[in-house]
Amino acid sequence: MLPVDLPDAVRDALLAPLVDHHCHGVRRDDLSRAQFELLIGESRTPAPPGTTHFDTPLGAAIRRWCAPVLDLEPHVAPAVYLGRRQELGAGEVNRRLLQASGVVAFLVDTGLEAPDLLSAAEMGRHGGAAADEIVRLEQVEQDIADSAAVAVDYMDSLAEELVARAARAVGLKSIIAYRCGLDFDPSRPSRGSVIAAANRRLSDPRERLVDPILLRHLLWTAVDVARDRALPIQFHTGYGDADLDMSRADPAQMTGFIRALQPLGIPVVLLHCYPFHRQAAYLASVFPHVYVDVGLTLTHTAAGSARILDELLELVPFHKQLFSSDCYGLAEGCHLGAVYFRLGMAGALGRRVESGEWSAADAARVAHMAGSGNARRVYRL
Ligand SMILES: [Zn+2]
Repeated sequence: MLPVDLPDAVRDALLAPLVDHHCHGVRRDDLSRAQFELLIGESRTPAPPGTTHFDTPLGAAIRRWCAPVLDLEPHVAPAVYLGRRQELGAGEVNRRLLQASGVVAFLVDTGLEAPDLLSAAEMGRHGGAAADEIVRLEQVEQDIADSAAVAVDYMDSLAEELVARAARAVGLKSIIAYRCGLDFDPSRPSRGSVIAAANRRLSDPRERLVDPILLRHLLWTAVDVARDRALPIQFHTGYGDADLDMSRADPAQMTGFIRALQPLGIPVVLLHCYPFHRQAAYLASVFPHVYVDVGLTLTHTAAGSARILDELLELVPFHKQLFSSDCYGLAEGCHLGAVYFRLGMAGALGRRVESGEWSAADAARVAHMAGSGNARRVYRL
């Protein structure tokens, strides 16, 4: 898989076990073609009549890199691939693909947990890896809104529940980019404004939370918990599904909030980032507590992913870059995340060694840091 002229030390470092610091459960059941196609890409809608989601960079990547894991030739037709998937069964397919990724620890965002998705513990068992939980803040808030009677209950219960959930987790995650955008007011909202907003919220708690006051309250409550337990907070930024307003997902828009967190020392982990990965690399280079990962982006851009990784590496400090697959639903996403991370890093590091810019030992050290060492340090694994 890796270029033949790569120095052995760099090759070994890139093939070493990875820590996948951001992923979701994959489906436990056998999927029809329609169900499988809905999980290719982020559109979550069927391809227009007469077309297929296999005709995307990710679709081609599945045929290229996942087919051999299922004992097929690279590039087989989608129908052949899906037929083999059925034949092996979801359990075997998940085991093969998760294990082929060479991931040694999964940090699973459990906010999308559903009966048909593997739990964090099951992801670990299927992948022959350790597994830990990342708590999605907005999911905790939804549970509390559903059960709280009055605003003061809501505030107390939210704080208590976050403490309880954080006790079993290695990190927290915010999807505020989806709910009100990253250009939110970075200050902590006043208690009076939160009580008024909570009363409005509790009159219709089933609605998805989009009120910026309550979203900021949630975030700042989480900051208190993160500070006490020394937990990082992940933020969705950039690339996502159609629910997202991309123009409000540039991580540079949350510079004020990042600045406010700096004295507290809480690690801020920017996920995905594309097409704002250069902004993210900049933020990681100027703020000591900011970390970056282009996970999901590599899987979806597939053949084009090496260039994106190269652009991230223009500026990101080597101790600030993390690896993730961000697989969701399909174990293929996990394997492909690892494949494109390794391929992209091999190209970028190989060129630096070849030009004499770095030693092979430097390149190997950077590969280890990005692949697992940085995540172990940030999440204290
Ligand atoms: Zn994700």
